[in-house]
Amino acid sequence: MDCLFCKIAAGEIPAKKLYEDDDAVAFADIHPQAPVHVLLIPRKHIASLAHLSAGDERLLGHLHAVAKKIAEEKGLTKGFRTVMNTGEEGGQTVDHMHLHLLGGRSMHWPPG
Ligand code: 5GP
Ligand code: ZN
Repeated sequence: MDCLFCKIAAGEIPAKKLYEDDDAVAFADIHPQAPVHVLLIPRKHIASLAHLSAGDERLLGHLHAVAKKIAEEKGLTKGFRTVMNTGEEGGQTVDHMHLHLLGGRSMHWPPG
């Protein structure tokens, strides 16, 4: 499958990996929007949250649990933001479901 994030998960395209296990991989975003900007993906190819299948819900919890662990490791004691963009209007540009972990600066609301 011609998917950028599947290739990163498989190690076929280099990325700065911060965590990996049988189900998930976390790596630094190539265009960071904050001092800490990490992408968390399931190894399984799921195009977006809108494509989630029954039985895959646990992966969402797992991605968030890994995000919490990385936030602790990065010392984000003042807070952080987790975001999942879905589809064209959601601002998704890579069609492999991913959770953004952003931290190290104050975030704004509403988002753009
Ligand atoms: P989206 O816009 O789909 O929510 O997020 C996609 C993210 O993937 C963007 O923040 C973008 O900077 C990041 N990205 C795109 N291509 C690459 C790449 O080749 N390597 C890494 N590490 N991040 C990428
Ligand atoms: Zn994929």
